Amino acid sequence: MSILIKNGCVVTASESYIADIYVEGQQIVAIGQKLEYGADKMIDATNKLVFPGGIDPHVHLDMPFMGTHSSDDYETGTRAALHGGTTMVIDFILQTQGDTLHNALKTWQKKSKGKAIGDYSYHMAVTDFNDDVAKEVVQMIEDEGISSFKTFMAYKGALMIDDGQMVELMKVVKEYGGVVTVHATNGDMIDSLIAENKAEGNLSPLYHYLSQPEITEAEASGRFTDMLYYTDCPGYIVHMTCEGALNAVRRVTRRNQKVFVETCMQYLMLDASLYEKDFEGAKWVMSPPLREKKDQIALWSGINQGLIQVVGTDHCPFMWKQKKMGENDFSKIPNGHPGIEHRMELLFSEGVHKGRISLPKYVEVTSTNAAKIFGMYPRKGTIAIGSDADLVVFDPNKEHVISAKTHHMNCDYSAYEGHKAKGKTETVLLRGEIAIENGECKLKPGHGQFIRRNKTSKTVI
Ligand SMILES: [Zn+2]
Repeated sequence: MSILIKNGCVVTASESYIADIYVEGQQIVAIGQKLEYGADKMIDATNKLVFPGGIDPHVHLDMPFMGTHSSDDYETGTRAALHGGTTMVIDFILQTQGDTLHNALKTWQKKSKGKAIGDYSYHMAVTDFNDDVAKEVVQMIEDEGISSFKTFMAYKGALMIDDGQMVELMKVVKEYGGVVTVHATNGDMIDSLIAENKAEGNLSPLYHYLSQPEITEAEASGRFTDMLYYTDCPGYIVHMTCEGALNAVRRVTRRNQKVFVETCMQYLMLDASLYEKDFEGAKWVMSPPLREKKDQIALWSGINQGLIQVVGTDHCPFMWKQKKMGENDFSKIPNGHPGIEHRMELLFSEGVHKGRISLPKYVEVTSTNAAKIFGMYPRKGTIAIGSDADLVVFDPNKEHVISAKTHHMNCDYSAYEGHKAKGKTETVLLRGEIAIENGECKLKPGHGQFIRRNKTSKTVI
């Protein structure tokens, strides 16, 4: 199949210009003006923007949690992502403490095989580190194409590793060219604040927020970057929410460290006042929690200052009845919210349309930087000859209202219900095939491919 996209404004992380794009098979074959190819299909992109397909490096599909699972699986989750212009996601495999990484990998392969519609990869969460796991880390990088390792500084007894394990993991990952990613919050402090609130009978969603103050994230972010400095390992802090944590990173940039930062759409747009809505606040119970308006200002500045490289979602939806598991105890509310579908549109509306970020910066943080940091560039993350034809034709002027009634995520509420956005994903190509057209998904489950990733050291200077 061949497709010719005519007259679009092609946007990459470095420039934007009017051009035609010719796609043959799975890749971009030519970019130029007045291209004359006899293509099977022509798309008129006059007055439209053309972006590289979005990459969301932080999603949880079909994730086990407290005896239940996040409500989007690989089929519904990657379909919803495509509707919004995200052509690839990176999910998290969770090692069970006491078990191997390879067993965890098999479990997640079963979840995705034959179901994914969009492309995907996995981060490997190391929740139990020892000499045997160290050997498996090397095998993941060398044999499986998985070069990023997630760690938790919170959730003791389930996911957390201690600082000694963290340093040993960093040494191995550094040696073999990967990257260590982190949920950076001080788990011990948070656990004691949760216990204190529960003992005092403070059980509403507001106390989820009050049990995770900014300092718990700032402290852990600083500690993580110090361990990176000691081991000279590249690191990536997921879902950063606040000024204090950003300042911890700002301080260590003076040491010329390789530390990358991701924030998520919700932290740029929503704030903690939502937790004052009694139990309805459970819709936004996630960790870390939403913060203050001053933190949003700091995060937008961090994007423009180059301290924050990626905007993801931490998509981890639960149905309202699942959220109700915590009706009488905030600590039993499943953590997470639906976000995978609207990241590209919301960031365009809030960022580009409102004049906070430029078009190239938008592409950088929605696609290019994730591709570079996670070892997929330039196959993914840009519009260039030879790159995968993952392309989004985007109408910058179309207004629409976000609602659970019209979204494609398998979740019965929206975190942004009624929000008016300007700019809408119109047509999406995934590896040269039409994925989304006229509001419909044209691809079948099983179309999505597992993308083997290179070492981070090969794509990041
Ligand atoms: Zn997450």
